[in-house]
Amino acid sequence: MSEITLQIEGLSKTYLAGTPGEVSVLRGADLTLRAGEVVALVAPSGAGKSTLLQIAGLLDVADAGTVQIGGQDMTGAGERKRTRVRRQDVGFVYQFHHLLPEFTALENIVLPQLANGVSQRAAEARGVELLALVGLKDRAAHRPAALSGGEQQRVAFCRALANSPRILLADEPTGNLDPATSDQVFEVLMRLVSETGLSALIATHNLELASRMDRVLHLEDGVLRAG
Ligand code: ADP
Repeated sequence: MSEITLQIEGLSKTYLAGTPGEVSVLRGADLTLRAGEVVALVAPSGAGKSTLLQIAGLLDVADAGTVQIGGQDMTGAGERKRTRVRRQDVGFVYQFHHLLPEFTALENIVLPQLANGVSQRAAEARGVELLALVGLKDRAAHRPAALSGGEQQRVAFCRALANSPRILLADEPTGNLDPATSDQVFEVLMRLVSETGLSALIATHNLELASRMDRVLHLEDGVLRAG
């Protein structure tokens, strides 16, 4: 079996714990993600998908439970360690691309690598390689506004993969695209995962897309169930 990239055990999260308006979003969620697999995270809006992804990606902390990334237990890790592991091992993609508008597609992929200590030359080479992988090599010098919605999302995938993370966490990555474009972007995503040996957890409420992933997990009443 391939290496475990992400392991979550007994994750609980309540917003505004102890107040009358409290919302218990996660109630003991467990998840194991292995290298090379694409897992769908399916639940209706408000069920806690983003919360789970934020905690898995070390952007938020749980009230209870553990998160292990690449075998490292992150429970109780300090902010410096969390930031380092997040930068090296986790890539995020959201419903909206969040590319920096004043920079080109290539620069948007280069910047996170520079922040991670990679040289300009190596970062550009990696950026061009990733753009070629998603079929956008000839759009390297375009700014986001000069790209279509599908192209913007493909660049956002490249940016998320720039530092060769182990895990890609995507929150409704095709939610803002028309069905044909969504399909195309999804195909690109599947190819990226199979060519890089990454693992991906993708929140979606598109059941058709979910059924094309390796596994489907449903988030219901704060726990994950195989679907
Ligand atoms: P999903 O991604 O499935 O739509 P979320 O994780 O965004 O769900 O939200 C789950 C629930 O937690 C929602 O009811 C939402 O209102 C609530 N929630 C999310 N973030 C916060 C927060 N920072 N403070 C209070 N409640 C929140």
